[in-house]
Amino acid sequence: MAEPTIYELSSPGRMGVRFPEPDVPLADLPAGLVRGELPLPELSELDVVRHFTHLSRLNYSIDGGFYPLGSCTMKYNPKVNEVAARLPGFAFTHPLQPAETVQGNLALMHELQEYLKEISGLAAISLQPAAGAHGEFTGVLIMKAYHDAMGNTNRTKMLIPDSAHGTNPATSSMSGFEVVPLPSDERGNVDLAALKVLCDDTVAGLMLTNPNTLGLFDENVVEVVNMIHGCGGLIYGDGANLNALLGVARPGDIGFDVMHFNLHKTFSTPHGGGGPGSGPVGVAAHLADFLPGPNVVIAEEGSEDEAPLFDLAMPAKSIGRVKSFHGHFGMMIRAFTYITMHGADGMRRIAEHAVLNANYLLAKLRKTYHVPYDRICMHEFVMEGVFADAPGVHALDIAKRLMDYNFHPPTNYFPLIVHEALMIEPTETENKQTLDVFADVLIKIAEEAHTQPELLHSAPHITPIGRLDEVKAAKDLVLCCWIPE
Ligand SMILES: *Cc1c(COP(=O)(O)O)cnc(C)c1O
Repeated sequence: MAEPTIYELSSPGRMGVRFPEPDVPLADLPAGLVRGELPLPELSELDVVRHFTHLSRLNYSIDGGFYPLGSCTMKYNPKVNEVAARLPGFAFTHPLQPAETVQGNLALMHELQEYLKEISGLAAISLQPAAGAHGEFTGVLIMKAYHDAMGNTNRTKMLIPDSAHGTNPATSSMSGFEVVPLPSDERGNVDLAALKVLCDDTVAGLMLTNPNTLGLFDENVVEVVNMIHGCGGLIYGDGANLNALLGVARPGDIGFDVMHFNLHKTFSTPHGGGGPGSGPVGVAAHLADFLPGPNVVIAEEGSEDEAPLFDLAMPAKSIGRVKSFHGHFGMMIRAFTYITMHGADGMRRIAEHAVLNANYLLAKLRKTYHVPYDRICMHEFVMEGVFADAPGVHALDIAKRLMDYNFHPPTNYFPLIVHEALMIEPTETENKQTLDVFADVLIKIAEEAHTQPELLHSAPHITPIGRLDEVKAAKDLVLCCWIPE
């Protein structure tokens, strides 16, 4: 049944606000400004609160249920993060305030830069980029600036494994590089033989997601890094999903030259719904001067009883500014809170639990669903949503049927190298009970696929609307109001 719109709920004369008595003389508005016929809804405050609260419950959320969206790391955003982000000293500052009046904010940003250096093993950080893809774009522009500075004008190619996130080729192409796809081998690693053929002095670099989008740690990562460095290229690390590595392995130690982080994945700040993210970029020492800026630096060292003086500074050969002001500060506060609350040991436990949870689910599901690259996974894994003896059922049907059991569907049809892919990432914030119910439901759906396939084809049954034309929904977005059939 269609929900009533806020216009249908309207009743003449109802009011939800009361304006204070004016303390200036009333004046007439110019005639052209007053649109008497504007059909504004008239509602009480209670009408409005109930309407929007009800609508909000039609939406799925991480606070409402399990959200195993692979490659998106939909982990829980602890409420303490929100408390920290709303502290008046943070929330009521203005980005144009002089540095001496926002020393606390700069101290937090500096500390976060230091945390990310320690976590990644890289030498310098910029917190400016607004999201993962923006961090990639920034990182690849840094690679380009480095090659330009070295006079490497013939390095025009960016190698991208076929298990990469779609943003990697998009970023390379936007940055003016020629994208050269790199196949994976049968274990889901970069195919070293293919890489060897491509490694020459036209290669600017390679963008590697490790763990890759199959959820697998590339067992040859050191060889890959050495081969690229051997031919004079740079290695980009897509660190959007760093969960599995926190406190265990550091991209900088492995030899990565540049990488981005997704604070809104790995470090629990909220994402989805188009809200602000944060995609800081880290670089090894030889690229530090090319970082965007300004970034937070220590202007004057502190002493035992005096805090250091922080300021903002532009790196020497900076690619410039990539974001207005200083990036999404609210996200930085949340990520800082998450890292501080966990501490160094807690970072490692995050990785251990993310990997344990994914492997626990994989162990429960691999008998029922085919897993093409079946080995110990990292924070996520990819299985096929098809059965040889139930050929009419597709990954999409399974994803939609999960909604009837109150679960958000996993990522589907990605990565492209797995047929009918279902990509599942439980994250470290889910408990065993939730994982058990989820696995049981997926096993039950597999049974239904054989006994009642029509149930899957017509799913979801409990949502306000059924199957959307998802392409049309994305390309032809209508956000203004609910349009009933
Ligand atoms: C999410 C993701 C990105 C892009 O991050 P956004 O913040 O969505 O732009 C890039 N690479 C990988 C591997 C990701 O999972």
